[in-house]
Amino acid sequence: MKINKTTEALIEWYGMNKRDLPWRDVDDPYKVWISEIILQQTRVNQGISYYYRFIEAFPNVNSLAAATSDQVLKLWQGLGYYSRARNLHHAAKQIVASYGGVFPSTYDEIIKLKGIGQYTAAAIASISFNIAVPAVDGNIYRVLSRLFSIAEPIGTNTSYKLFFNRSLEIIDKSRPGIYNQALMELGALVCHPQMPACIDCPLQMHCSAYNDGTITLFPVKNAKVKVQERFFYYFIMIHGSKIGIRKRNENDIWKGLYEFPMIESSKADLHIDEAIRLFTHSVNIDEATIQYISDEYRHKLTHRLINARFIHLLLPIGWQCSIDGVIWINRNDLSNYALPRLIDRYVKESGFID
Ligand code: SF4
Repeated sequence: MKINKTTEALIEWYGMNKRDLPWRDVDDPYKVWISEIILQQTRVNQGISYYYRFIEAFPNVNSLAAATSDQVLKLWQGLGYYSRARNLHHAAKQIVASYGGVFPSTYDEIIKLKGIGQYTAAAIASISFNIAVPAVDGNIYRVLSRLFSIAEPIGTNTSYKLFFNRSLEIIDKSRPGIYNQALMELGALVCHPQMPACIDCPLQMHCSAYNDGTITLFPVKNAKVKVQERFFYYFIMIHGSKIGIRKRNENDIWKGLYEFPMIESSKADLHIDEAIRLFTHSVNIDEATIQYISDEYRHKLTHRLINARFIHLLLPIGWQCSIDGVIWINRNDLSNYALPRLIDRYVKESGFID
């Protein structure tokens, strides 16, 4: 089958330059899926060790589906964007319930799985099932926008269709998985956001923006989303050798992870005494000794900046440890629970646990 010259140059370059990664040349849809989900929002170097650990703990859909959510989240700890882990777990159960544990083999079935969007469905369908469906993610938007001088702002439904159709025109229908991976790899290794290495690019002579000297104009982006600042006051309640923790159920961030009971303020200037008063009142504690108040810890998420303080409260010996939703654990067992990175960082840096 004859393929476009651009595609030919791209695939030839990929064959000689692709990185040696653990999920490379793997077509097991389960492994492709896990690698793609890990690599969303995570750098390749950081993702490799997580990939190995995940595949070792859960080598197939059935073992993932049979795990508890605490086991899955614990393995994910430190990677952030925990909805990815919750969705993986949910989708594994879907595959067991609806397909007897066999990964579905059509794009339309794959995209119905929880947490799988257009990009991931296309990656799995093309790499594992040889279906000619273009994958479009941040790297690919960048490469295609420059290659074809596409001025439509990226990340909208309209631009997705535009880029998808443009890619469909040049996809190698006999090797769609290789084609998609080659575009991703070119975006990661050569067509960088800043200072693309055009001199090393196999597509240079076909690249519209390069030939027009307009690379810096692409990709076109919409205005940035404003970062929201939030103020968290965590209370480490210490009762002898026990401390209180709770599972976070709020739908905004870190759902399913464990944290210290906390209050949140919308203001930067809530006085620490007032925060303590509000908290102790909310949990009916009349008597507690403030052992320590931390400096402010700042933690950046994509659209949020968390400012956190940790307040250690010593509870009296005879106090009944009963607060709704709080479990009391040995301090040294804290590391067995999946914690947000902010809390993990605090307890380690402060020496609260080893
Ligand atoms: S020539 Fe430069 S801008 Fe064009 S695709 Fe290659 S690296 Fe990107």
